[in-house]
Amino acid sequence: MKKYSVAAIPGDGIGNEVVPEGQKVMEAAARLGGFSFDWTHYDWSCERFAKTGAMMPEDGLDQIRNKDAIYLGAVGFPGVPDHVSLWGLLIPIRRGFHQYVNLRPVKLLKGIESPLKGREAGSIDFYVVRENNEGEYSSIGGRLYDGSPDELVMQQSIFTRRGCDRVMRYAFELAKTRKKHVTSATKSNGISHTMPYWDERFAAISTEYPGFKTDQFHIDILTAHFVRNPDWFDVVVASNLFGDILSDLGPAVVGSIGIAAGANINPEKDYPSMFEPVHGSAPDIAGKGLADPIGQIWSGAMMLRHLGEEAAARAVEDAIADVLARGEALTPDLGGKANTRELADAITAALPAHF
Ligand code: ATP
Ligand code: MG
Repeated sequence: MKKYSVAAIPGDGIGNEVVPEGQKVMEAAARLGGFSFDWTHYDWSCERFAKTGAMMPEDGLDQIRNKDAIYLGAVGFPGVPDHVSLWGLLIPIRRGFHQYVNLRPVKLLKGIESPLKGREAGSIDFYVVRENNEGEYSSIGGRLYDGSPDELVMQQSIFTRRGCDRVMRYAFELAKTRKKHVTSATKSNGISHTMPYWDERFAAISTEYPGFKTDQFHIDILTAHFVRNPDWFDVVVASNLFGDILSDLGPAVVGSIGIAAGANINPEKDYPSMFEPVHGSAPDIAGKGLADPIGQIWSGAMMLRHLGEEAAARAVEDAIADVLARGEALTPDLGGKANTRELADAITAALPAHF
């Protein structure tokens, strides 16, 4: 029997409530799918930072380097600045393990009230593929003439051929399993070096995929289309900054932040990939059993798919859709009265029917 070794990092706040529920659903999927998990728990978090001055131990990456996957909840704590959790945990893992794809599904499910009126379930179904390792989020730059009227600040963006090509190929490979339509986010009318280069690489990679539909939009109008015409898209590929914006906007237009899933993927599988919901630690509801576990569970479905357990991945996604459509056992963010465990249990109970 196949056994997957997974690092579970619940993190802070509701991460501690949704990760254990996600693990239970993964266990149930494994039993039905004929494989198993070997979990190792890590207390890496802002809470750990407050006690020890570090989010994770110095050899943290080495401790999890050989895992098959990382199942992360959320990191963040009131009073601990965001850059601590970002640079102390998320970015070292994303960059250290070459997780150069950040993947987020945008799918309107029955039973979810979208802020967009008149949209049918199933009419919005696409993925945002964000470049996750380079681009606008480089730390190269600096400040000159500090405090003087001539003060100036510069920040460099880094776009490499390798970096562009590999994330674009990932988008095309994903589209191959779907509607074969890839949309590129650009801003080559305003950004005169990096974005024309991005467009150039998109055109070059497109030629490797004959028969695919491709298009590109400037980021400003693209955000408008996400709201007005979200049914246009299949796979949207974007640089780090533009992808960051689109991958928050996408899930927002299809409903609750509590159900949005995400993955940081190393497609070559030479290092583990990391699966984490879009939401944060939600300190306002932490410890009350109110957290919606669907984002965490859906991220787990993405983990199953990455591990090669497609049937199990699909069963978990279908079980989520099933429970939402029936409108039973929903948490308060979805208009129900159930708690975190009750919603996760309902998804587990729905699983066998979808295998
Ligand atoms: P962090 O600093 O960790 O990013 P945050 O407060 O900035 O936390 P979120 O944790 O994403 O951001 O919370 C935004 C809002 O959405 C909060 O009101 C929170 O309660 C709500 N929320 C987030 N996740 C969930 C969830 N899984 N279930 C229900 N409500 C949620
Ligand atoms: Mg936040």
